[in-house]
Amino acid sequence: MRHDYRMSEMDLGGGAAPVLRGHFLYNEPMKKHVSWRAGGAAQRVYIPADLEDLTWLVRSVPAHEDIHIVGLGSNLLVRDGGVKGVVILLHGVLKNLAIESRTHGLPPAPEDADTALVYAQAGVAAPKLARFTANHNLVGGEFWAGIPGTVGGAMAMNAGCYGGETWHRLVQVQTLDRQGQLNERRQDEYVIGYRHVALKHPQEEWFIGGWFRLAHGDGVASRETIKELLKKRIASQPLGQPNAGSVFRNPPGNFAARLIEGCGLKGFRIGDAQVSTKHANFIVNLGYATATDIERLIEHIEDTVEARTNVQLIREVRIIGERQ
Ligand SMILES: Cc1cc2nc3c(=O)[nH]c(=O)nc-3n(C[C@H](O)[C@H](O)[C@H](O)COP(=O)(O)OP(=O)(O)OC[C@H]3O[C@@H](n4cnc5c(N)ncnc54)[C@H](O)[C@@H]3O)c2cc1C
Repeated sequence: MRHDYRMSEMDLGGGAAPVLRGHFLYNEPMKKHVSWRAGGAAQRVYIPADLEDLTWLVRSVPAHEDIHIVGLGSNLLVRDGGVKGVVILLHGVLKNLAIESRTHGLPPAPEDADTALVYAQAGVAAPKLARFTANHNLVGGEFWAGIPGTVGGAMAMNAGCYGGETWHRLVQVQTLDRQGQLNERRQDEYVIGYRHVALKHPQEEWFIGGWFRLAHGDGVASRETIKELLKKRIASQPLGQPNAGSVFRNPPGNFAARLIEGCGLKGFRIGDAQVSTKHANFIVNLGYATATDIERLIEHIEDTVEARTNVQLIREVRIIGERQ
């Protein structure tokens, strides 16, 4: 539905009142937008027309209302009671992807000589970034091929696998803050860890895009690596059933899947939510799982693993919304 929503002058602090050019969806089932295919509805979903439209939307949302940015929902559970505030869907909106000829003020380093900068906006699918870099004879980004999320989600989660990590390649990011202002930030403004990224001086803002530095290399070999990675994933992950990837982070020196399997939980089920029989750190939706089933199963795994092994698992998946 196209929505000509004219923001009031009050919303804009008395300034100009542009017409929002994106789409609002009301009471939108979020199961359509998350890979678990479960969960409640969002009061309001907004699909921006472009970056400028997104900045105006953010400025128009009153400070007491929550804003949730969702990419491809591949790491997200929305509780059955639904989400208040505004959910903004970025996938397919901010989709610029290009080799950068400018340095963007980034200081050159000697080791940068045989590298290129790639600019990717937050709505680009991570596998597309992997293929794009390989097709431009840039190496080191192959791991993104196996991450079924957006570049924005990969930046927020520091997504990675098979030895690659998103922030190993990121040199600068563009963010949008809660006031609707765009900022450019360097890596050293963040605390970066395993599946964790946070501003050193926390404030509410989201990733709009990023500049990745990759080395020139053999594009053919890079495309072969991507094929091999995808084969490994098909062999080891339950890709035919709705899931959200690894539910828990791997504890230092261990694997969450090994601990969960060691507790005899492979195949354990609450409602239609099941610990995958293929990969114990995945929870699959057998068809009609609710978000409550999935969350109860997550809690059951945490309690069982802690009771039997003394290890407190840390969640990798993000949970938002209200309990029913
Ligand atoms: C089959 C499968 C395999 C997976 N394998 C891996 C893997 O190997 N490695 C790995 O790391 N992950 C993996 N994942 C998890 C997931 O794909 C990644 O975490 C991915 O980066 C999430 O991206 P998304 O766009 O789907 O984010 P979403 O699920 O939409 O959001 C996740 C979180 O990021 C935030 N977010 C999203 N976009 C932005 C933005 N632009 N700015 C700020 N915050 C934002 C959201 O608010 C939310 O808190 C897998 C998932 C599946 C289903």
